[in-house]
Amino acid sequence: MLATANAHKVIEMKSLLADCGWNVIAAPAEITDVEETGETFAANARLKAQTVAAAAGAIALADDSGLMVDALDGAPGLHSKRWAGDGATDAERIAKLLSAMEGVPTDRRDGRFVCAVCIAAPGGALWEGAGSVEGTIALSPRGEGGFGYDPVFLFADGRSMAELTESEKNMVSHRGRAMRAASQWLLEHLNDAI
Ligand code: IMP
Repeated sequence: MLATANAHKVIEMKSLLADCGWNVIAAPAEITDVEETGETFAANARLKAQTVAAAAGAIALADDSGLMVDALDGAPGLHSKRWAGDGATDAERIAKLLSAMEGVPTDRRDGRFVCAVCIAAPGGALWEGAGSVEGTIALSPRGEGGFGYDPVFLFADGRSMAELTESEKNMVSHRGRAMRAASQWLLEHLNDAI
């Protein structure tokens, strides 16, 4: 069961787990609203996976992810979702990031997306992993794909994460890297009694 209420993440994760051998479903919305009180991405992924696994009585997989920008001392970081306030839109989050980065020259706009993943059973965590991808923060948004900060996250070839197809994003992204390892673990434990 995928422990997320983010519809875009459900799409990405289902595609990344297509070959894991398990029947992958999204958790009901009423049990995915877990308060992220951890101090690391890994702690929050564990919290979400364990809470949903216990509530559903099923194996749950959660990720916690965000954007870390060097010029902003790692912000928005753990607070990537709430950075522009509760209920803010992706456009508002991007506007806040671009305004915080105003005047920062192109050679000092490095950042990375990071993603921690946890698979948990009702009794506790079973597997944990992580992935990241390096890029730079654009001067203005471009591209229609993905979600969140994708339109302002640039690769060395000049394309933004939002200009990649879904499968291109999955090949290189932080979540893609972490989830491929999770998928492999699930495949290897298909017949375990957990
Ligand atoms: P959470 O992992 O649900 O706590 O949310 C993390 C936040 O980080 C999202 O709401 C996005 O704003 C941002 N984020 C995480 N992964 C991505 C991504 O793949 N692309 C763009 N933004 C992302």
